[in-house]
Amino acid sequence: MNIILMGPPGAGKGTQAELIKARFPIPHISTGDIFRDAVNQGSELGQEAQKYMSSGQLVPDEITTAIVKERITQADCEQGFLLDGFPRTTAQAQALDQSLTELGKKIDLAVNIDVPTELLIERLSGRISCQECKRVYNLNFNPPREQGKCDSCGSELVQRNDDRGETVAKRLEVYSQQTRPLLQYYEAQGVLFNIEGSRGSNQVFADIQEKLESL
Ligand code: ADP
Ligand code: ADP
Ligand code: ZN
Repeated sequence: MNIILMGPPGAGKGTQAELIKARFPIPHISTGDIFRDAVNQGSELGQEAQKYMSSGQLVPDEITTAIVKERITQADCEQGFLLDGFPRTTAQAQALDQSLTELGKKIDLAVNIDVPTELLIERLSGRISCQECKRVYNLNFNPPREQGKCDSCGSELVQRNDDRGETVAKRLEVYSQQTRPLLQYYEAQGVLFNIEGSRGSNQVFADIQEKLESL
């Protein structure tokens, strides 16, 4: 089962990915998490990615597609994978399709989580996450049991730099201009599944689960 999770920043992609992988044992591949780990390690990739992430821009397609191409050919992706935050441009979607064709695979479902902009801004301003296990929390909607500490692994919870100030507005603009047009791309392939994401995360997940089980 090869799945894509789409939606603007703050729609709940990471949150739904956690729920999906607990029910369907396929690897969760988040390009945002891959880049943030690289930034924290100070690697060459991290230094390059940081230039774009800090201002809310997209990391160039060549860098991003090469990472995903390499990742989906690994053995743990044989039974399927869950892509979160990739593709974000038409060029990325085309490169992904080309890689999948080479592997004799295809996308089974592109889940689009739809949330109004005001709610996205509210969610992003309260987002905190675990740098170790990547679990996502929200100061208002989904706080951890103990303040500042991850329920799952006990590590410190941090706010992302790009969830502050005007970077949020820039990311929403980049989404509208570069990523939203991709919905038509997957609609044309007949794999687009739109979902109302302003409800509670368990309600959203129930719809996704039902759809995945029907595949
Ligand atoms: P994305 O990966 O699409 O940017 P996240 O999963 O990180 O989104 O969610 C953004 C923020 O909104 C997080 O703080 C998360 O806890 C919260 N959140 C996610 N889904 C919901 C929901 N259905 N209702 C309320 N808050 C949510
Ligand atoms: P969000 O969960 O808020 O949608 P992500 O964690 O997916 O954000 O991405 C954070 C940042 O990492 C993006 O603003 C962008 O700079 C970079 N990034 C992540 N995925 C991609 C991608 N597919 N193409 C280009 N840049 C990306
Ligand atoms: Zn954790």
